[in-house]
Amino acid sequence: MRYVSTRGGVEPKRFCEILLEGLAPDGGLFVPEYYPKVSREELRALRHAFNNGEEGGYARLAFHILSMYINDIPKAILQALCERTYTKEVFGTSAVTPVTRYDEGDGFHFHLHGLSNGPTLAFKDLALQLAGYLFEYVLSCRGEVLNVLGATSGDTGSAAEYALRDREGIQVFMLSPYGRMSPFQQAQMYGLQNKNVWNIAVEGNFDDAQAVVKAVSADAVFKKKYSIGAVNSINWARILAQIVYGFAGYFLSTTSNAEQRVVSVPSGNFGNAFAWHAARMMGLPISTIIIATNENDVLDEFFRTGLYRPRTRAETLETSSPSMDISLASNLERLIHAWFGAGWTYSLYVNQLPRDGQFDLKEVALFQDTLKSKAFVSGKSTHADRIQVIREVYEKHGIILDPHTADAWGVADRNLHFYGSVIVLETAQAVKFENTIVEAIGHPAPVPEHLQGIEAMPRRVVVLPPDAEVIKKFIADRCA
Ligand SMILES: *Cc1c(COP(=O)(O)O)cnc(C)c1O
Repeated sequence: MRYVSTRGGVEPKRFCEILLEGLAPDGGLFVPEYYPKVSREELRALRHAFNNGEEGGYARLAFHILSMYINDIPKAILQALCERTYTKEVFGTSAVTPVTRYDEGDGFHFHLHGLSNGPTLAFKDLALQLAGYLFEYVLSCRGEVLNVLGATSGDTGSAAEYALRDREGIQVFMLSPYGRMSPFQQAQMYGLQNKNVWNIAVEGNFDDAQAVVKAVSADAVFKKKYSIGAVNSINWARILAQIVYGFAGYFLSTTSNAEQRVVSVPSGNFGNAFAWHAARMMGLPISTIIIATNENDVLDEFFRTGLYRPRTRAETLETSSPSMDISLASNLERLIHAWFGAGWTYSLYVNQLPRDGQFDLKEVALFQDTLKSKAFVSGKSTHADRIQVIREVYEKHGIILDPHTADAWGVADRNLHFYGSVIVLETAQAVKFENTIVEAIGHPAPVPEHLQGIEAMPRRVVVLPPDAEVIKKFIADRCA
């Protein structure tokens, strides 16, 4: 298997060559040359290997799927990395991504797919925990080091820190807005005592932190000298790891491979939803992928009308499902490429988008077919919607959905009578979003036992001004 750019301007490369890269040199995203097809027999074998999520099943499934996309890591090593990543100790259950059924009456039901049982209680752990081990492996093969620099408003940064802590050859420098994250998020990040993790609280907001990261990364000499890199949402390994739980969720919510499933995905950058689409391209029987957005509805608009119009910063809203507050959906470029190939992708992203600020697929036959077949459908959820869903589901089933999950549940619920049954992706735990939960049900979600008291733990964090030169010096002093 080799990897090419969505925009067609890069010689094919192998997995380990693209693992640590961000964008491809031509500005596109790396994608596999083809999506391997899983035959009926292979699907049966994968279900068998997964063994209903019994001990070791998830790691075996991960190894089989990853093997289809990675052929420059020895099999025994790849298998060992999967086994080390997907354990009951790290993800809470041997199923890793357990599925629970909730009946809605009249034969309709939801399957809640628990993707948020990792160390930071968000689904990003599923991909980043594996990425941490893969990075460590590739760096050690090359005798190189990596200094990951990032900015976070809470979720992604902590998932990256928990994935990279104590990984050999890697340091993490994570900027966060001083005093602006929730007490739980601060405790989660700043409480990490690992020597290779540096929490830097900058005196400013998230945009200030982001601007510093951009300024430091724009200094090519500094970047090279100190091996500065990132783990961003366009990284192919993250998508690949997410394909695995598509299979797991399907197996856990069906008893035979003859069944079709509908999945509802709380979406921002389109990484999660694209992974499900990739699983479907491989042959997983998924009939419809429901794209649920919050008030930042760039994807809902696209899947309803064909118009893709990235928003300006001023148009991007701060909502109560904050991990979906995006102005554009980076991974959509991978879908455009899968649909139309590199020539079209180049013309849409290199010619049209910069010129017009948007592109429109309304008149394109393949897009119209997608709408007709309901391969993708979409819907938008507002603050009032998610509050109502959290309250209703709590009253009906006694569970507390996190705000992002509530968006996916609510959008799916509008047409549940049509689908019959829907897999809803639980992308985070409610305990991370106290204010919204209190607004919905009058009290906070209980803190899981193993996290009780984390707010009282000692902290490891420095406070610095949002000044690129100060941050550069901080990094340089720690890269001797
Ligand atoms: C990142 C995130 C999302 C959005 O996922 P994408 O892959 O960016 O579409 C949804 N919910 C939660 C809790 C997240 O952290």
